[in-house]
Amino acid sequence: MTRHLPRQVDTVIVGGGPSALILSYILHGNVPIYDLESPHPDPILHAKLRDNIDLLTANVDHLTEHFYGSRFSYSTQALPVNVLLDTILRPYGETDEVEGKTCVKWVHNPARAVPHLVIGNTKQTGGQWADNPVKASWDIGALSYAGMLSLPGYSFEQYYYDHHGHRPPFYLRPARRDVAAYFAEYPHKVGIADAIFLDETVNGVSRHGKGFYLASHNLHCNHLVLASGIFTNLVPPRPLLKPLLKLNNCKQPKGPILVVGSGFSAADVILSTPPEQQVIHIYKWAPSSSPSPLRACHQQAYPEYAGVYRKMKLAAVASKTKQISAPRPQRRASEIDVCRNWEKTYEGLPNTAIIDVESHGHYATVTLQAGGNLPFKRDVGAFAYVVGRRGSLDYIEHDLREEVCSDHTQWTNLTGSSLREKANEELEVAPNVFIIGSLTGDSLIRFAYGGCAYAAGRIIAQRLEHMPPAPLYSTQAHARPDTHYALAMKGLQGHNLALYPPSRLSLDRRKSEICVESS
Ligand SMILES: Cc1cc2nc3c(=O)[nH]c(=O)nc-3n(C[C@H](O)[C@H](O)[C@H](O)COP(=O)(O)OP(=O)(O)OC[C@H]3O[C@@H](n4cnc5c(N)ncnc54)[C@H](O)[C@@H]3O)c2cc1C
Repeated sequence: MTRHLPRQVDTVIVGGGPSALILSYILHGNVPIYDLESPHPDPILHAKLRDNIDLLTANVDHLTEHFYGSRFSYSTQALPVNVLLDTILRPYGETDEVEGKTCVKWVHNPARAVPHLVIGNTKQTGGQWADNPVKASWDIGALSYAGMLSLPGYSFEQYYYDHHGHRPPFYLRPARRDVAAYFAEYPHKVGIADAIFLDETVNGVSRHGKGFYLASHNLHCNHLVLASGIFTNLVPPRPLLKPLLKLNNCKQPKGPILVVGSGFSAADVILSTPPEQQVIHIYKWAPSSSPSPLRACHQQAYPEYAGVYRKMKLAAVASKTKQISAPRPQRRASEIDVCRNWEKTYEGLPNTAIIDVESHGHYATVTLQAGGNLPFKRDVGAFAYVVGRRGSLDYIEHDLREEVCSDHTQWTNLTGSSLREKANEELEVAPNVFIIGSLTGDSLIRFAYGGCAYAAGRIIAQRLEHMPPAPLYSTQAHARPDTHYALAMKGLQGHNLALYPPSRLSLDRRKSEICVESS
């Protein structure tokens, strides 16, 4: 039966990704409460939380002010509100896949429910998990362990159990296909599907009286939540390279695939090609100033990405020493070494520019040049330009867009840093407009809970007219030395960087895709 959107609702959430789902769960009246029977291992935090167990009205400044000097080494990279909710939800972070201790109880309180709609443009819930613009296999493992991908009320572990009849193995990095299926099923399992409208693109959002008007859906609302993410659109190639995109219309490529990019998506495309497929890989190689995010991948936790990084490094070293035969013999073959004959099928071309493209129907000839060396040619039959993904605010009308983000250059070019400064100050980026999820600059799902709890707390309080005159709390980041911030911006985002082994670090893709092909 076709459902119709109402003309008026209290809150509209734009985007159907994990953050929209978490917020919808809370706005359905599910309140996160600090569980006094499962105290947090940090006695100072526990003592503070005892005074107010309602996590929707938590005083973040007060609760997190001791974090910086704490022996628990809380993340200094994510927003304090996100670190707070994350540590209360999973006090031992990723190291606790076995017990899965939590200090949060979800309590249903219909009095705190808020009428709302989630409007997303994908066919299923899951946001960027439901819609993969990169031609990469759905079997590639997520960066996070299963427990870090769970949404409230129905965990990934439970989903796995329901489908496989047993618990998932510890430290499982589930396939993208399974994560997408979990997010698709989630709304039905936790009873929030009534609020979700999919395959719908929001457009023409403007202020109207005390609220907002969504021209695309002739809909009025009091609160607007932007959960539209930073990974919606692939960065397009420059005009010279556009003819190469036509090669992808051909199902069976007639010649090597040309992959441009030095991040996870490039690695995903390479790992997804059949073993006999020739790969020509152009990437930026600047390990000291702008290292590939793949460098952070530990061999044990992320063998496939570490393997691709090794091939890139070998090719870079070989190109510097002007050796034509690329890889040096290896002591021990890893899984990735045996899955394809890299020497025969992979050509790594660091810091190489495409200076000309000639199309010949099913294949094209590209002219390449590295530094001041002589140009050379390659025939290619497929093309993957994967130098990054961006979000956009183009669904918001000019004046409101200006309120949300005064830097016009970012409007269709949103990255994790575009709204970060604002998020540091306040997640209500304009009166009654909130940002959640990756838009805040904390792109991992585990860190989405904080922003969602904050936005929900404010929206519920306003609705109940219990809004105190001053903000309930600010999301102001603690003052911290530049070095920590710089580390964060390098693409690593862990709950406890100091104590956990590198193999347990979470990888944040917000900085993962850097522009590689130089021209
Ligand atoms: C390839 C990849 C792998 C990742 N792996 C991990 C991982 O292993 N673990 C982890 O924690 N995080 C991972 N991330 C980070 C990712 O940010 C989060 O997993 C999560 O998807 C963020 O959720 P979100 O709700 O903020 O945004 P998204 O999931 O990006 O969802 C936003 C949705 O809003 C839609 N939208 C945008 N504009 C409109 C509009 N006008 N109308 C309607 N809908 C709109 C977008 O199309 C998108 O579907 C990964 C990211 C990428 C790109």
